[in-house]
Amino acid sequence: MKHCGIYIHVPFCLRKCQYCDFISFSDFSQEEDYFKALHREIDLYESAFSDCVIDSIFFGGGTPSAVSPVQISKLMNRLRKYKICGNAEITLEVNPATLTDENLLIYREAGINRLSIGLQSADDRELRELGRLHSVKDFLNNYAAARRAGFSNINVDIMFGIPLQTMESFQRTLEVVCDLKPEHISAYSLILEEGTPFSERNDLELPDEETEQWMYEHLQSFLRTRGYFQYEISNFAQKGFACRHNLKYWRMEDFIGFGLAAHSFYGGLRYANTANYSDYIRRLSLGEKPVIQSERESEEELFQDAVITGLRLNEGIDISRLKECFRIDFEKRYSGALERYLKSGHLVRTEKGYALTREGFEISNYILSDLL
Ligand code: SF4
Repeated sequence: MKHCGIYIHVPFCLRKCQYCDFISFSDFSQEEDYFKALHREIDLYESAFSDCVIDSIFFGGGTPSAVSPVQISKLMNRLRKYKICGNAEITLEVNPATLTDENLLIYREAGINRLSIGLQSADDRELRELGRLHSVKDFLNNYAAARRAGFSNINVDIMFGIPLQTMESFQRTLEVVCDLKPEHISAYSLILEEGTPFSERNDLELPDEETEQWMYEHLQSFLRTRGYFQYEISNFAQKGFACRHNLKYWRMEDFIGFGLAAHSFYGGLRYANTANYSDYIRRLSLGEKPVIQSERESEEELFQDAVITGLRLNEGIDISRLKECFRIDFEKRYSGALERYLKSGHLVRTEKGYALTREGFEISNYILSDLL
């Protein structure tokens, strides 16, 4: 039987952060209608789930912990009409200051076994500048509550290259996080996305390029000394705790996304749900799937996706698998570039193919655009 992951988008946030371009809003009066629609959408996938077993579920957002925990619990019950692996990884994205002992208990009882906490920075000034609603103290209190409630698989999200951040403050963030020993750490650099308040400001005190580069290199070496292995460009984990759900995206395995603007990839097809709230609710009230786009990528596109996602991972790409799936000889096609990057130390030969080195991760965008 095939395995499949599930992503559920919860588009509610208490307030919009200054840098965020995710689909989310703060009108909680729509919560009930939205969750009803999600239940209907899940019901429409009966045939897709008839021959597969769910091995990961990810509630993302938005801020899934900002809605009533009972909604999460009811959705989990709904999903149980399909087959869920006994050891499935079930993650809930949460924000500090939204967790209570009562909520955490409901999540545990619902089957959530992994929390992903959006800290971003352990400096209150930086958090305020980002427009985050929580303080470092809120994070520490919530983290302790999560451990007390029995969560033994926790990710903490941090950011670098953010306004007001210095090498010293970034180092403090790393220390605060590592001292707590979360099982997983994700670290992303700030991107000024078009249409966000940050993209319109010209007074942001951002670290310069060299400092940001230092932060990424330091992140890699510091986390290594604290027992984390880097398994993807932006992701670090203790042994055995790489995020199984995200690995599905990078390994191009099947997953189905539910909710506003959710994406799916299964049976070799990519699907996208509508990003228009009223349209999403309307389609589901009529018993229609809210899918507005579905496409079968060409062999060449799938091959390129496999190279891009494979090289993001520490394990790299498996050249015999590429040959088997796409009938393309990777070494033959990229012989010149491979030789160059092997010589410069940005790429290494692995047992199954090729992988970027630590230095390669630093310039991964450049290498990937050069290759493809
Ligand atoms: S909490 Fe997350 S999803 Fe919500 S606005 Fe902030 S960054 Fe965006």
